[in-house]
Amino acid sequence: MRASTQYFKQKSTETLHDLKIQENLAGLYPGFHEARIKASSDTEDWDQLKERGRRIKAHTLDHLDYYLELLEKNVTNAGGVVVFADTAKDASEYVTKLAKSRGVKSVVKSKSMLSEEMSLNHHLEIEGIEPIETDLGEYIVQLAGETPYHIIAPAIHKSSEEVAALFSEKIGTEPTLGIEDLTEVARKQLREKFISADMGITGGNFMVADTGTLALVTNEGNGRMCTSMPRIHVAIVGMEKVIPSITDLGLFLRLLIRSATGQWISSYVTTVSGPKRSKDIDGPEEFHLVIVDNGRSRILADPVLRESLYCLRCGACLNACPVYRKVGGHSYGWVYPGPIGAVISPMLTGLSRGKDLPFASTLCGSCKEACPVKIDIPKMLLYLRNQLSEGTHYRSERTSGLLERAISMFCGRLLGNQNATAKAVKFLGKVLKIFPKRIFPFLQGWTRFRDLPEIPEQSFIERWRDSRHIDNVDGGGDGNSEK
Ligand code: SF4
Repeated sequence: MRASTQYFKQKSTETLHDLKIQENLAGLYPGFHEARIKASSDTEDWDQLKERGRRIKAHTLDHLDYYLELLEKNVTNAGGVVVFADTAKDASEYVTKLAKSRGVKSVVKSKSMLSEEMSLNHHLEIEGIEPIETDLGEYIVQLAGETPYHIIAPAIHKSSEEVAALFSEKIGTEPTLGIEDLTEVARKQLREKFISADMGITGGNFMVADTGTLALVTNEGNGRMCTSMPRIHVAIVGMEKVIPSITDLGLFLRLLIRSATGQWISSYVTTVSGPKRSKDIDGPEEFHLVIVDNGRSRILADPVLRESLYCLRCGACLNACPVYRKVGGHSYGWVYPGPIGAVISPMLTGLSRGKDLPFASTLCGSCKEACPVKIDIPKMLLYLRNQLSEGTHYRSERTSGLLERAISMFCGRLLGNQNATAKAVKFLGKVLKIFPKRIFPFLQGWTRFRDLPEIPEQSFIERWRDSRHIDNVDGGGDGNSEK
């Protein structure tokens, strides 16, 4: 786990100076971001749909125990096995033990951020089981020995030339292949793996409580191959992914897909309800659903942060974020990057480890605007900043020093008193006129990149009072001065 203050500063600085990555990241805005804007504006009642999605998420989390039990009952009735894992370690242990007990040698995987959270590939490899990522982007980052860069586009930081060079090094193909040829190479390689794998592991975009259905969204069809070809299918999902009813699924598919890629509907929407039945001609013999907590209960218990569990993992907030589009995904140091990662990662890894992340935001509000379930990320970032400064959050330590807190307290008192503030600002204006701001070394962190505007002789309040005085002398002017 690499989330740490030092890592964020170092990696984001490196990324800002990496022109190739900057060029690749520049495609996010005209790509996914603008496609989302078009799809949402073409969707009738988009705002009402968002509101409805948000309400359903809030309701489900308020009754999470009920819906999880209902889901368990329905999956079990359909012949599946449901396991609740308290931690990522418990979940990994369950999957690796299952694989070993069934003599599994290789596993094909569909994209799952939770499996990254669990470091599942690493655990499988320790047991001598080969994990193969089958989403093209995940396949590329696995070949490169990296972690995903973006929630829905894991290899967004690599150009096609870099991927061609990577394939050439690892697979022995021509280093000049174009995108179509590269895709064909990956397809051939993966086809063999699908045929020989004993187990398919997927995430799940939604789990439907009233039918026990797992819904998966992909554009490459690899999710469907993972759920149908190997003899065992294991789905690992965070416990917040449950939705109450199959009648809600259409709404959530619209919200997710249009926000993620701007498509009207993705190429494949796969629904799975248990293993193959006696009359089915194919499908897995076993279906295991692993529902993972790993810190989510703690988030649920927090009245402000719990709405981060509404997240559909669409990635829209990443594409909208001016900070993510510059510092890139790896700077965040853990599984979840971007604005939602700046909230979730510190909560799951401990605020002390991710203490720079809540500050990696301009608080411009683009993330909230883009979010299909209207998660108020800026509010949560401010809340985390406050907890960091006070040292009140779980697994955090106070980050503000004695001097900083003394200054904050002094400023708080000063700003609470209008007359004192006016006098202080006047005094500061005079001081800055005599001494240029650069001679204050303690201000340089701020003034190096920003110009402090010149402080005018008269404050707004004084000008307002003067103008009213003149109006009164003139007999009230045109009567608009009070508006
Ligand atoms: S916070 Fe909202 S915009 Fe960001 S990934 Fe989650 S659902 Fe999408």
